Amino acid sequence: MAERLKGKAVADAMKEELTKRVEDLKAKGLTPKLGIVRAGGRPDDLYYEKGATKTLGAIGVEVEVFAYPEDVDQATFEKGMTDVANNKEINGILMFSPLPKQLDEAKIRSLIPVEKDVDCMTQAGAGKVFSDDVSGFPPCTPTACMDLLKFYNVPLSGKKAVVLGRSMVVGKPVAMLLLRENATVTICHSRTDNLPAVCADADILIAAVGRAKMVDEKYVKPGQIVVDVGINEDPDNPGKYCGDVNTAAVEGIVEQISPVPGGVGSVTTIVLCKHTIMGCEAQNA
Ligand code: NAP
Repeated sequence: MAERLKGKAVADAMKEELTKRVEDLKAKGLTPKLGIVRAGGRPDDLYYEKGATKTLGAIGVEVEVFAYPEDVDQATFEKGMTDVANNKEINGILMFSPLPKQLDEAKIRSLIPVEKDVDCMTQAGAGKVFSDDVSGFPPCTPTACMDLLKFYNVPLSGKKAVVLGRSMVVGKPVAMLLLRENATVTICHSRTDNLPAVCADADILIAAVGRAKMVDEKYVKPGQIVVDVGINEDPDNPGKYCGDVNTAAVEGIVEQISPVPGGVGSVTTIVLCKHTIMGCEAQNA
């Protein structure tokens, strides 16, 4: 039976280290702070906001929410974002996306200063990630995948990594981060020929496809390490959620697998915390 790569152990270890870093900052009179900017209040966003406020608060990082009504106009939202961008007390900015249709999201994203872009929402931030400039923050979820793999000492250098999904939020940046660690990376998507066979050839498979339980026994091989990024409604258990991997079908074949829930998602908020602390350290160096 495959070993579970549980996120809690990773998050606990990171919390301990981050708490020390916050204490060091506080000794210098600095408190790291995240600004969350949103228009409207989708249930998923509010759930994430509540979790982030609690997790970051427990580590000593402040969170301030700048909430606008769903029908906010462009000028008001732009002014709000500019104020947050210029606020010296705020070290990191998270904006919930997508924004309501009346807003020009590309323009608003561009107002986030790259040094406060802790979830890689700007082209400048993405440029840093894709050019291996480590002063840029990769998005939190791909970073959580890498932190999980590193915590469990999964060898990456020289290994074949297949990333299933090519979004700017997960697939492409996680591919860049794997490449940085000298993995040999293949990125797959909805037009990939022979998809199961390509995935089954991997030493490490990252599933970020957004299709409940799509990765079954045809996509894996013995010895493989599978990171399941998916968060989907579970078609077999209403009200519950599941990953992109059919765990029951693959757990007898692969060597290690991250569970859903309790895998990558458990690490993502801690990464947001880490990036906010790094922002505070860099902005006050
Ligand atoms: P996305 O923007 O919808 O991208 C999905 C990717 O999967 C696309 O590249 C798409 O290919 C590909 N794809 C879709 N159906 C496919 C199929 N049948 N065969 C092969 N490829 C297919 O999703 P995302 O934002 O990257 O998120 C991916 C998953 O991760 C979702 O379940 C999401 O909920 C989850 N997620 C988790 C976290 C976390 O913290 N754990 C954070 C963010 C997202 P094309 O490009 O060809 O369309």
